[in-house]
Amino acid sequence: MIDRLLFPKDGFCYVCSDESNNLTHSLCMECRSRIEEIHKEFRLDSPYIDRCYSSLFYNNFTKDSIHRFKFEDRSYLYRTFHSYMLKTMEMNKIKDFDIIIPVPVHWRKEAIRGYNQAYLLAKPLAMKLDKPILRDCLVKSKWTREQNTLSAYERKRNLLDSFKVRRRERIQGMRILLIDDIFTTGSTLKVCSETLMKAGAESVFALTLTSTKM
Ligand SMILES: [Zn+2]
Repeated sequence: MIDRLLFPKDGFCYVCSDESNNLTHSLCMECRSRIEEIHKEFRLDSPYIDRCYSSLFYNNFTKDSIHRFKFEDRSYLYRTFHSYMLKTMEMNKIKDFDIIIPVPVHWRKEAIRGYNQAYLLAKPLAMKLDKPILRDCLVKSKWTREQNTLSAYERKRNLLDSFKVRRRERIQGMRILLIDDIFTTGSTLKVCSETLMKAGAESVFALTLTSTKM
């Protein structure tokens, strides 16, 4: 059982580890039925980014799966999830971008967790779409203070100061696709795109695995 959880093989559902011969995206039928696909476009109120696409609704099932993905070292789940993101891109004809950038987490957080889930989602997308991925360009340089004790203005400042672009010549005139796992208020996406646009990017739009809105 432990072996199965740590090293999932074909023939097992990635989420519930159930043996099944009816797997799609490495998920059994039961788990698949709990996924709510939306493949939807959301408008963001920002001059730096105008569109965000999301693949799945953030329901209890995806919430739980992402939680495991993040905190139980089930990083192989990205192999299941990224296929839904590819479907969103096909359905919405998303192709006008030059490079892919994952939303970064602070290096300390990445060191503790061992990976950045946005990067794990972005990597197979970049490979399938044959687009370059820049992992070390947009960085989170500051450990963000607890956001819930701050006013809306302080929150924005706090976030904006925490992202930096390294070697900005790499994104000059580039159309960027930002990748993240969850879309909630969009504040992180807005701040990331503001940082990228001010560093010389041509345009930014985002694709997230899940959305808390439908
Ligand atoms: Zn399952």
